[in-house]
Amino acid sequence: MLKKHRYSFELFWLIAIFLLPLPFIQTLSNGLPIIYQSEFRAIYYGTIAYVWMLFAIYLSTKPKWLDRLIGLPEIYMVHGMLSIAAIILAYLHKEGTTSSGWIKTTGDWAFDLFLGLMIYSLIFMAGWLTSRIPFLNTIKKFLEKIFKHELSVWIHRLNLVATALVFIHVQLISYITAIKPFMAWFDLATAFVLFSYLASKLVVPLTYKKGTVITNKLISDNVRELTITLPKRSEIQLLAGDYVFISFPDIQGLTEMHPFSLSNAPAETGTIVLAIRGDGDFTRALDQLENGTTVLIDGGYGRYEEFLNEQPQSANIVILAGGIGVTPLISTVEDNLDRNIKLLYSAHNQADLIYQDKISRWQTLGNIDCSVQVGRFKNNQVIQELPRGWQNNTVFLIGGPSKMMHHWIHFLKSQGAKSGQIYFEEFSW
Ligand SMILES: Cc1cc2nc3c(=O)[nH]c(=O)nc-3n(C[C@H](O)[C@H](O)[C@H](O)COP(=O)(O)OP(=O)(O)OC[C@H]3O[C@@H](n4cnc5c(N)ncnc54)[C@H](O)[C@@H]3O)c2cc1C
Repeated sequence: MLKKHRYSFELFWLIAIFLLPLPFIQTLSNGLPIIYQSEFRAIYYGTIAYVWMLFAIYLSTKPKWLDRLIGLPEIYMVHGMLSIAAIILAYLHKEGTTSSGWIKTTGDWAFDLFLGLMIYSLIFMAGWLTSRIPFLNTIKKFLEKIFKHELSVWIHRLNLVATALVFIHVQLISYITAIKPFMAWFDLATAFVLFSYLASKLVVPLTYKKGTVITNKLISDNVRELTITLPKRSEIQLLAGDYVFISFPDIQGLTEMHPFSLSNAPAETGTIVLAIRGDGDFTRALDQLENGTTVLIDGGYGRYEEFLNEQPQSANIVILAGGIGVTPLISTVEDNLDRNIKLLYSAHNQADLIYQDKISRWQTLGNIDCSVQVGRFKNNQVIQELPRGWQNNTVFLIGGPSKMMHHWIHFLKSQGAKSGQIYFEEFSW
């Protein structure tokens, strides 16, 4: 039977939701004066909200150890959902407690700021949500002409100000600060998250690796291929199917890190190849890059290869790829040329189908079967292409537009596939 990689994800959720707030609630409940009994529940809500908010900030630092275990897209989803849950609890806290003066002011400011930022972020920063709700996605696409991604990132960072206000709010409540064991947890957790955040912004960038662009060419009407040499192969841990964050420190307008998937098997060559579609300001400006341009690289991130390693090596691999979402899967196939692979790859237009030469070469190997077409595959087409007994001996890798990925996940599950058999990574968070 195939292992269920989702166990780690579910365990992660349980730890975040229940285990983390436990020492805070425990120490608090031992020290709360009985005269506040009617507010106990609301005080606990506020405490859990703060712990979840701190955890959400920690997750935003892209912890690498968690990425390999769970995957950044899922981490960002937990980050978003925990923040929303925290704001709901903060509301219950606000409604269930009485306060005055600066205690009230700091609490109210923090809550209003969190609430406003949550509404903003649900549109601009929650790709996991907008990709599932077409209406929100339409609003996002329309407003993004003004509120560019980089601006949204800065606005989103105001959550730190709101968290600082909560910190001050708590420090002002004398009957809480009198509970020393609770305050020890509270201050330590805050200091740890602050330290992790500052390190991710100030120290981690110093560890980004420097690469060099050696070729930059168009491989279809709107897709550009960059080949980048890596500094020393041993210094950067890349797996096939990974993505890296890159920026170009010497080129104005290209200094923000953006994520792109590898389209080659990195271990073999000491270079990385990225296929990048011109979707916005950053990606369209890549045509100005000359050979020799310095690239900063942070990575690798991703779980396609980790997922395959968790499965029996004898499992067949079925790949459903659409549009530019094929890139990490091209890399994955290249690294697994001895496996039984079925690649079903489609794009809206003939011109958008990239790496057809590679795909034709794989076809000659005998164990890799590729179907490439313009326009999405039909359900019955896919079913016909699946290996015999696929419910027990096959894993599915999916990459492409969000809508397409969710369609196949839903369809495969409706045909009897288990969650642990399917892996996908979204291109939007
Ligand atoms: C894991 C992952 C792998 C990806 N791999 C590829 C790939 O191989 N090839 C490819 O063409 N594209 C890939 N993308 C998408 C690519 O990162 C975006 O298209 C690109 O960052 C858009 O930047 P822009 O300024 O050109 O466009 P914009 O118009 O600024 O943004 C278009 C959309 O991209 C998203 N985006 C913008 N900046 C960032 C950022 N810094 N971080 C995360 N999301 C951002 C936003 O949701 C935005 O709505 C990948 C994305 C992710 C998350």
